[in-house]
Amino acid sequence: MMDAITDPRVEKVSVMKSARVGYTKIIDHVVGYYLHQDPSPILVVQPRVEDAEDYSKSEIAPMLRDTAVLSEIAPDPKTRTGENTLLKKTMKNGASIALVGANSPGGFRRITVRIVLFDEVDGYPVGGAGSEGDQIALGTKRSETFWNRKIVSGSTPTIKGLSRIEKLYQEGDQRRFYVPCPHCGDYQVLEWGGKDVTHGIKWDKDEQGQALPETVHYVCKHNGCVILEQEKPELIKNGE
Ligand SMILES: [Zn+2]
Repeated sequence: MMDAITDPRVEKVSVMKSARVGYTKIIDHVVGYYLHQDPSPILVVQPRVEDAEDYSKSEIAPMLRDTAVLSEIAPDPKTRTGENTLLKKTMKNGASIALVGANSPGGFRRITVRIVLFDEVDGYPVGGAGSEGDQIALGTKRSETFWNRKIVSGSTPTIKGLSRIEKLYQEGDQRRFYVPCPHCGDYQVLEWGGKDVTHGIKWDKDEQGQALPETVHYVCKHNGCVILEQEKPELIKNGE
């Protein structure tokens, strides 16, 4: 995903994901990249203003403090000036980050950015940002003067047919991550599986029918090969 985001040929990246897969960290890394490596004005849109404040405190502030190359360009965390507030930070190299809540009608005004990161879009209030309209359209509009803009949206999908991230994903080229089975070499997208299918995550049970966590393994979709946890790094490394 991060490779796609920093690919100059790619303008839009839409990530339809499961919960708890580290997507916030990906957003952090994208922010760090566009603050330091390719200094740009950045907008991060969270579902609510409180989410934006929380994201600033729990993710952005520690990253700026603890990453050497970022702390060098970050504004002094002890001063609260126009250059450094909870929701707006300007770096010494000219890059900047603004954070807004999708529930804030005025949040998108007076902002011009190259990088727009929409987080958890299926959690945005339905009906748009007050009377101002759809938040994704509003945020995207803030970047229209940049020929090299980047629009990144991510979310766990909610209701099929109404989900915003599902719609955005369908508008894209719908990439998935294929990994080769370390035994037969056949490429596949990893799937949870389930009781009624032969592939996916499987485990043994004891005589009482209790699951035995230490027996968990993955069964290859194509040839039923057993893939173990310790083979995972190799799997991911060879993924496409
Ligand atoms: Zn296999």
